[in-house]
Amino acid sequence: MLERLKNIIVPKQTFEVALFWGVLIACFIAAVFSAVFSALEDIDVITVAGCVSLSVFFAVLGVVAHKTKNINACYFVMCLVIALLVMPPLFFTCGGFNSGMVFYCQTTMLVLSLCAKKILRAVLVVLSIVVDSAVFMLAWEHPEWCSKVEYGAAITDIVVSFIFMSVFIFAVVSYLLQAYQREKATKDSLIEQLNYNSAHDVLTGLFNRRYFIDVLNNEIMPNASGFYILMYDVDHFKKINDTYGHPAGDKALASIAKVAKDLFKQAKEISVRYGGEEFIQVIAADSMDEARSRSENFREAVAAIAIEEFPGMDIRISGGLVSCQNSSFENYGKMLSVVDKLLYEAKTHGRNRIVC
Ligand code: GH3
Ligand code: MG
Ligand code: MG
Repeated sequence: MLERLKNIIVPKQTFEVALFWGVLIACFIAAVFSAVFSALEDIDVITVAGCVSLSVFFAVLGVVAHKTKNINACYFVMCLVIALLVMPPLFFTCGGFNSGMVFYCQTTMLVLSLCAKKILRAVLVVLSIVVDSAVFMLAWEHPEWCSKVEYGAAITDIVVSFIFMSVFIFAVVSYLLQAYQREKATKDSLIEQLNYNSAHDVLTGLFNRRYFIDVLNNEIMPNASGFYILMYDVDHFKKINDTYGHPAGDKALASIAKVAKDLFKQAKEISVRYGGEEFIQVIAADSMDEARSRSENFREAVAAIAIEEFPGMDIRISGGLVSCQNSSFENYGKMLSVVDKLLYEAKTHGRNRIVC
């Protein structure tokens, strides 16, 4: 039972739903407490009946909201009833200023102010200010309209109401903050996941083409000195797939990616899966010689890959290497087409090599 109740109130709800249930349950508890206190304090039967009706109203509204799922409408109705039908008569029957009703009126403003729809919220707050102000003036001018409360009972009610409403405000605000923080944490982790997915390749964990083009265009090309692009492709990869199977081919690609990540760790040395079995490595180096030497080391490291489950699998790559700083590259597209040609040259000149 408790678990079901908790599932209705706490769970993966939207902020508005959590808000409605939090306020409704808090109001229901407040109404039940008021009914009990009114009865214990021997206040007239109309007041007790009012509090009991209020408890029933909240309970029924809870059932309607649960069945219809129309939370915004239910919240508005709840607030309208509280502001117009409940608070004014309750103010007089509970003893006017000789009771804790002012605290209840003030707390009601908090509840109304939490209505999700802007226009409805404004309507509720303005209505409530007008009605409550009128009620205060009438109760002040006509104290005889308010039920009589003895001094001792009045001060007890004022103190108890103050404490009760303070706890209520604290509970509602804490609940809202918690719901907001929970929602924010969920959204943040979702955004983080989306950001990762939009920039990475699932199989290898390398950056994807979209991310690479972005970095190339915005960060590398404007300040191209010291950067080199190695575009490489797995040799006879179709044969690897055909011989060992597609999952084995996937493992080979992941192993190449791991070698790239291990060897190229400098700032902005991003490793990219450019397409199927075609990759790009951004290399930071002081000269073409250094870039070539590091590319050759990488090619040899790939050739040395040994996958335990597939002994005999020969993984080789061919690549083209260009410097990003070249006046003939008016844009990154031109550079990529040049490096692609070099890669093609490596393929046609026997593979397993890097052409600069
Ligand atoms: P070359 O040396 O000329 O590059 O020959 P190749 O066989 O590597 O080139 P080809 O373009 O004929 O074949 C590439 C193959 O790569 C075909 C495709 O099925 C395979 N491939 C592309 N993406 C993946 C992948 O994610 N996993 C696996 N296992 N295979 C892939
Ligand atoms: Mg290939
Ligand atoms: Mg290819």
